[in-house]
Amino acid sequence: MSHDKNCIFCAIARDEAPAHRVLEDEQTLVFMDIFPVADGHVLIVPKSHRENLFEITPEEMAAVARMSRRVGLAMRHALAPEGLMVFQLNGAAAGQTVFHYHMHLMPRREGEALALHTRVPGDPTRLAENARRIAMSLEILTDRAGSDQRPR
Ligand code: 5GP
Ligand code: ZN
Repeated sequence: MSHDKNCIFCAIARDEAPAHRVLEDEQTLVFMDIFPVADGHVLIVPKSHRENLFEITPEEMAAVARMSRRVGLAMRHALAPEGLMVFQLNGAAAGQTVFHYHMHLMPRREGEALALHTRVPGDPTRLAENARRIAMSLEILTDRAGSDQRPR
Protein backbone atom coordinates (compact mmCIF):
# COMPACT_ATOMS: atom_id res chain seq x y z
CA MET A 1 0.00 0.00 0.00
CA SER A 2 1.51 3.33 -0.97
CA HIS A 3 1.34 5.96 1.75
CA ASP A 4 2.33 9.55 2.45
CA LYS A 5 3.94 10.12 5.85
CA ASN A 6 2.38 13.57 6.15
CA CYS A 7 -1.16 12.39 5.39
CA ILE A 8 -3.62 12.09 8.28
CA PHE A 9 -5.83 9.57 6.46
CA CYS A 10 -2.78 7.38 5.70
CA ALA A 11 -1.94 7.53 9.42
CA ILE A 12 -5.51 6.48 10.28
CA ALA A 13 -5.45 3.70 7.66
CA ARG A 14 -2.19 2.38 9.15
CA ASP A 15 -3.61 2.62 12.70
CA GLU A 16 -0.99 5.21 13.59
CA ALA A 17 -3.61 7.90 14.36
CA PRO A 18 -6.88 7.47 16.25
CA ALA A 19 -10.28 7.39 14.57
CA HIS A 20 -13.74 6.07 15.30
CA ARG A 21 -13.43 3.14 12.92
CA VAL A 22 -16.52 1.42 11.54
CA LEU A 23 -15.27 -1.25 9.14
CA GLU A 24 -12.46 -2.12 6.78
CA ASP A 25 -11.84 -4.53 3.94
CA GLU A 26 -8.73 -5.27 1.91
CA GLN A 27 -8.74 -1.99 0.01
CA THR A 28 -10.87 0.44 2.03
CA LEU A 29 -11.43 1.84 5.53
CA VAL A 30 -14.59 3.42 6.97
CA PHE A 31 -14.48 5.85 9.93
CA MET A 32 -16.46 8.73 11.40
CA ASP A 33 -15.73 12.31 10.27
CA ILE A 34 -14.24 14.11 13.27
CA PHE A 35 -16.03 17.37 12.32
CA PRO A 36 -19.43 15.94 11.41
CA VAL A 37 -21.69 18.22 9.39
CA ALA A 38 -24.55 15.92 10.37
CA ASP A 39 -24.90 13.33 13.12
CA GLY A 40 -23.57 10.08 11.62
CA HIS A 41 -21.26 11.68 9.00
CA VAL A 42 -18.95 8.92 7.68
CA LEU A 43 -15.84 8.85 5.46
CA ILE A 44 -14.66 5.98 3.24
CA VAL A 45 -11.06 5.98 2.03
CA PRO A 46 -8.82 3.72 -0.04
CA LYS A 47 -6.01 2.36 2.15
CA SER A 48 -3.46 3.46 -0.46
CA HIS A 49 -2.58 7.13 -0.64
CA ARG A 50 -4.36 8.55 -3.71
CA GLU A 51 -4.86 12.28 -3.75
CA ASN A 52 -8.04 12.47 -5.77
CA LEU A 53 -10.18 11.03 -8.59
CA PHE A 54 -7.37 11.68 -11.05
CA GLU A 55 -4.96 9.44 -9.12
CA ILE A 56 -7.09 6.63 -7.72
CA THR A 57 -7.18 3.39 -9.74
CA PRO A 58 -10.50 2.22 -11.22
CA GLU A 59 -10.32 -0.87 -8.98
CA GLU A 60 -9.85 1.19 -5.81
CA MET A 61 -12.62 3.56 -6.84
CA ALA A 62 -14.93 0.59 -7.42
CA ALA A 63 -13.99 -0.78 -3.98
CA VAL A 64 -14.91 2.58 -2.37
CA ALA A 65 -18.21 2.62 -4.30
CA ARG A 66 -19.08 -0.93 -3.23
CA MET A 67 -18.29 -0.04 0.37
CA SER A 68 -20.35 3.17 0.17
CA ARG A 69 -23.42 1.13 -0.83
CA ARG A 70 -22.90 -1.32 2.03
CA VAL A 71 -22.34 1.44 4.57
CA GLY A 72 -25.24 3.51 3.20
CA LEU A 73 -27.61 0.59 3.74
CA ALA A 74 -26.25 0.14 7.27
CA MET A 75 -26.64 3.86 8.00
CA ARG A 76 -30.27 3.68 6.90
CA HIS A 77 -30.78 0.67 9.18
CA ALA A 78 -28.97 2.24 12.16
CA LEU A 79 -29.86 5.93 11.96
CA ALA A 80 -32.99 6.12 9.75
CA PRO A 81 -32.07 9.43 8.07
CA GLU A 82 -34.66 10.97 5.75
CA GLY A 83 -32.01 11.22 3.03
CA LEU A 84 -28.38 10.30 2.46
CA MET A 85 -25.89 12.55 0.69
CA VAL A 86 -22.84 10.92 -0.94
CA PHE A 87 -20.12 13.21 -2.23
CA GLN A 88 -16.44 13.48 -2.97
CA LEU A 89 -14.37 16.61 -3.65
CA ASN A 90 -11.33 16.95 -5.95
CA GLY A 91 -8.91 19.86 -5.52
CA ALA A 92 -8.92 22.89 -3.20
CA ALA A 93 -11.09 24.78 -5.69
CA ALA A 94 -13.76 22.11 -5.25
CA GLY A 95 -13.52 22.40 -1.46
CA GLN A 96 -11.18 19.43 -0.83
CA THR A 97 -9.29 19.96 2.44
CA VAL A 98 -7.69 16.53 3.02
CA PHE A 99 -5.75 15.42 -0.02
CA HIS A 100 -6.33 11.68 0.28
CA TYR A 101 -9.33 10.50 -1.76
CA HIS A 102 -12.44 10.08 0.43
CA MET A 103 -16.16 9.59 -0.03
CA HIS A 104 -18.49 11.38 2.38
CA LEU A 105 -21.74 9.70 3.48
CA MET A 106 -23.89 12.26 5.23
CA PRO A 107 -27.37 11.71 6.73
CA ARG A 108 -29.83 14.44 5.67
CA ARG A 109 -33.07 15.70 7.18
CA GLU A 110 -35.86 17.51 5.38
CA GLY A 111 -35.37 21.29 5.40
CA GLU A 112 -31.77 21.26 6.70
CA ALA A 113 -29.40 23.77 5.08
CA LEU A 114 -26.81 22.23 2.75
CA ALA A 115 -23.25 22.45 4.07
CA LEU A 116 -20.11 20.52 3.19
CA HIS A 117 -17.91 21.45 6.16
CA THR A 118 -18.02 22.61 9.75
CA ARG A 119 -15.28 23.49 12.22
CA VAL A 120 -17.17 22.14 15.22
CA PRO A 121 -15.68 18.84 16.41
CA GLY A 122 -18.06 15.98 17.09
CA ASP A 123 -18.69 14.84 20.66
CA PRO A 124 -16.35 11.81 21.07
CA THR A 125 -19.00 9.79 22.91
CA ARG A 126 -21.51 10.42 20.10
CA LEU A 127 -18.94 9.60 17.38
CA ALA A 128 -18.14 6.31 19.12
CA GLU A 129 -21.83 5.52 19.56
CA ASN A 130 -22.61 6.18 15.87
CA ALA A 131 -19.61 4.08 14.77
CA ARG A 132 -20.81 1.23 16.98
CA ARG A 133 -24.41 1.45 15.75
CA ILE A 134 -23.42 1.51 12.08
CA ALA A 135 -20.97 -1.38 12.59
CA MET A 136 -23.70 -3.39 14.31
CA SER A 137 -26.12 -2.77 11.43
CA LEU A 138 -23.42 -3.82 8.96
CA GLU A 139 -23.16 -7.13 10.82
CA ILE A 140 -26.92 -7.63 10.92
CA LEU A 141 -27.35 -6.86 7.20
CA THR A 142 -24.35 -9.01 6.24
CA ASP A 143 -25.74 -11.95 8.22
CA ARG A 144 -29.14 -11.52 6.58
CA ALA A 145 -27.59 -11.32 3.11
CA GLY A 146 -25.66 -14.50 3.88
CA SER A 147 -28.74 -16.42 5.01
CA ASP A 148 -31.05 -15.48 2.14
CA GLN A 149 -28.43 -15.20 -0.63
CA ARG A 150 -29.16 -11.56 -1.44
CA PRO A 151 -26.20 -9.65 -2.92
CA ARG A 152 -24.24 -7.59 -0.37
P1 5GP B 1 -12.89 17.33 2.23
O1 5GP B 1 -13.22 18.77 2.38
O2 5GP B 1 -11.43 17.14 1.90
O3 5GP B 1 -13.80 16.62 1.29
O4 5GP B 1 -13.19 16.69 3.62
C1 5GP B 1 -12.25 16.35 4.57
C2 5GP B 1 -13.04 15.81 5.73
O5 5GP B 1 -12.14 15.18 6.62
C3 5GP B 1 -13.76 16.92 6.51
O6 5GP B 1 -15.13 16.61 6.57
C4 5GP B 1 -13.09 16.88 7.88
O7 5GP B 1 -13.99 17.11 8.92
C5 5GP B 1 -12.51 15.49 7.94
N1 5GP B 1 -11.30 15.38 8.73
C6 5GP B 1 -10.23 16.23 8.72
N2 5GP B 1 -9.27 15.79 9.54
C7 5GP B 1 -9.74 14.64 10.10
C8 5GP B 1 -9.20 13.71 11.06
O8 5GP B 1 -8.08 13.86 11.56
N3 5GP B 1 -9.97 12.64 11.39
C9 5GP B 1 -11.22 12.46 10.85
N4 5GP B 1 -11.89 11.37 11.25
N5 5GP B 1 -11.76 13.30 9.95
C10 5GP B 1 -11.03 14.38 9.59
ZN1 ZN C 1 -2.91 9.45 2.44
